[in-house]
Amino acid sequence: MGQGFDTKSVHVTMKRENGIPTKVTPIHQSSAFTFDNLTDIENFFQGERDYLYTRVGNPNTDELGQAVAQLEDAPSGVATSSGLSAIMAGVLAVAKAGDHVLASTDLYGGTYELLANELTSFGIEVSFISFAGDFEHEIKENTVLLYTETITNPLLRTEDIQTIAQIAKRHQLKLMVDNTFATPYLVQPYHIGANLVVHSATKYLGGHSDSTAGVLCGDEDLIQQAKSRIVNLGANLSPFEAWLMVRGLKTLSVRMERHVKNAQALADALHQHPAVDQVYYPNDVSSKGNGAIVTIDIRHGCDIDRFFQSLGWIKIVATLAGVETTVAYPIATSHRNLPEDLQQQVGITKGLIRISVGIEDEQDIIDMMTSALDQAKK
Ligand SMILES: *Cc1c(COP(=O)(O)O)cnc(C)c1O
Repeated sequence: MGQGFDTKSVHVTMKRENGIPTKVTPIHQSSAFTFDNLTDIENFFQGERDYLYTRVGNPNTDELGQAVAQLEDAPSGVATSSGLSAIMAGVLAVAKAGDHVLASTDLYGGTYELLANELTSFGIEVSFISFAGDFEHEIKENTVLLYTETITNPLLRTEDIQTIAQIAKRHQLKLMVDNTFATPYLVQPYHIGANLVVHSATKYLGGHSDSTAGVLCGDEDLIQQAKSRIVNLGANLSPFEAWLMVRGLKTLSVRMERHVKNAQALADALHQHPAVDQVYYPNDVSSKGNGAIVTIDIRHGCDIDRFFQSLGWIKIVATLAGVETTVAYPIATSHRNLPEDLQQQVGITKGLIRISVGIEDEQDIIDMMTSALDQAKK
């Protein structure tokens, strides 16, 4: 098979079972797998046959984990029930009670809550810092993990993964990176030194906003550890959702190509709009483009309610990354539970609007957004 990214993403397929030559992988919608005899059971535990029970492993979820690992250029991968459960499994693969995690202040809101409220109750200490400046003095005796995102949310700062990975290595720490916003189409954090790469596959990997899933890829030993956490905490993905995600993966490249082209055009157009104070759109993500999220800060005095009421066919949602252009209001949704001082520190203001640019006609997106901003300015 060819080794190009596009070829790899299209040719995801597991080995065929039962000799039926289906073109795509069938859905193994079964909670368990049968055995012929006691030797057969023993063979499972000796690693000589594959499946026992779907919470422990299923061909469709395995296919998704392995496919994303291939695209990330990582040796191993595992699929989970959601992006957050993949993050949980990844952190728990590295950190135990008494260990310390250094995480970026500038994270997806749900990740912040998982780290600050849940993992601390497991006895894991977490500090939130910026990786943009010199942060080595924040590393403590019990620090084991650095955690950040390739492109931060919602202000879209590009993290310097290579430099952070070098620092992690020097201090013998693991580095875990959420690559949801960039996708392996734009950036492959494992390839530049991360130990674990996590995805909310709910977003671009699936791409069609029809199911929730997560994928964790990385070092073989860490993925083995994470698999144990997933099995024991019951964070497995269902076979059907895994199948949908694999179907989505096959068009990742063509979707991303259009997404990033439209996003660049929208960012350029909105710079000139009188209702827009600032456009956040990175320029240094990858040679293939800079992602498909454009965040804007609406000028003080503009009518934000009116903006949201004037969006026509563009829907207001608390998610991102579907084929349709959508908008989100971070201060009311994803970042609502962030402490107010952290909201201010990160820059989550009342005027901040996050646009997830879809794959429609570029000019239609620009026209609709411009007209809603015109309304807000009146
Ligand atoms: C959505 C998202 C998550 C959480 O994923 P779920 O699939 O909703 O659990 C984590 N990180 C980022 C960057 C996200 O956008």
